[in-house]
Amino acid sequence: MKVDILIIGAGISGATLAERYANAGKKVLIIEKRDHIAGNCYDHYDQNGILVSKYGAHLFHTNDDEVWEYVNRFAEWYPWEHRVIARVDGKTVPIPVNISTVNILFDEKLETEDDMKQWLEQNRISFDQPTNGEEAVLNRVGPVLYDKMFKHYTKKQWDKYPAELHASVLERIPVRSNYDDRYFSDKYQALPKGGYTKVFESMLDHPNITVLLNTDYFDVKDQYEGYEKLFYTGPVDRFFEFEEELTEKLEYRSINFVTEHIDAEYYQENSVVNYPGREVDFTRIVEHKHFGNQKSDKTSIVKEYTVDEGDPYYPVPNEKNQLIYEKYKAKADQLTDVYFVGRLANYKYFNMDQAFKNALDLYKTLEHAKAGAL
Ligand code: UDP
Repeated sequence: MKVDILIIGAGISGATLAERYANAGKKVLIIEKRDHIAGNCYDHYDQNGILVSKYGAHLFHTNDDEVWEYVNRFAEWYPWEHRVIARVDGKTVPIPVNISTVNILFDEKLETEDDMKQWLEQNRISFDQPTNGEEAVLNRVGPVLYDKMFKHYTKKQWDKYPAELHASVLERIPVRSNYDDRYFSDKYQALPKGGYTKVFESMLDHPNITVLLNTDYFDVKDQYEGYEKLFYTGPVDRFFEFEEELTEKLEYRSINFVTEHIDAEYYQENSVVNYPGREVDFTRIVEHKHFGNQKSDKTSIVKEYTVDEGDPYYPVPNEKNQLIYEKYKAKADQLTDVYFVGRLANYKYFNMDQAFKNALDLYKTLEHAKAGAL
């Protein structure tokens, strides 16, 4: 079989590049280790007819018009503003921290934005330039909320305290001085009707695209040479693991998803409930039927336990890993016609929209002269 473009991995990055190249007339082969497409966005209907995500909740949000236009080519999306609540000290509070969070946790009676700003000013410890996750949180909300809502959740999630992580990890969560309890504030916040897997099916539904599932690229790589370009979306260190001088491993976090089927209409009042305390080992419980207000007599919930072994889901952003990554990146940059793309290959904590954006940008950079506009 003639292959112009070889792509390793059928997640966001791989599918986007496949779709772009196939539409430009190239023959594309995707090699995917798992038995399904869609990467960690993969979802399916469970035994109760509820659409569930196999690898945790995926909430699409973006401020990028181009990405929004692009994803709308492959599905109808309905507006969905994600909200998260947390159980703290036996109380239930909104996260991100807003006026209600402070009132509920500390029996305060803050009413206005000014009240909240004043409370934050009295409690926060100011850092001009937070150098790690602990400083980032202290700078925003101060030590009491840091202890209750961020310190132990982060330890459970990363097996590191916030001080051992880049500030950017904790800065993903904003602080609100009003009552806004939405998790994100982006212009576009939506879910695809019928689920994410359908989006990927639609992206890959092209006569120029072949997908080979259940195949580890490293087992078959000798059979697939002679391509024009190779796009690799797996963990960057895996690509070089047979090279002796690069033995330092990058850290990744994986998640152990433990599902329970429950013979009741609902288990909890919200799609995601965080458990930032030490009293339980899991970080959060996701009840998928809340997404899109799905109806069913029964429900299922998923408890998330993060672990260091298993499929890599999260890079671990800190100084040490960044330095190791730079070494791999230098190796990667030396290769011609081989491109590293996506969360695992770039070792970056991309959101979904950033993954789309990076793949689209890479395509444009490589093919600009020929492809013109997107
Ligand atoms: N975080 C926290 N408490 C929470 C929620 C998040 O300490 O209740 C911290 C934690 O370190 C987490 C980071 O903020 O890894 C980013 O959270 P986000 O919800 O963006 O993580 P994701 O959904 O990507 O797992």
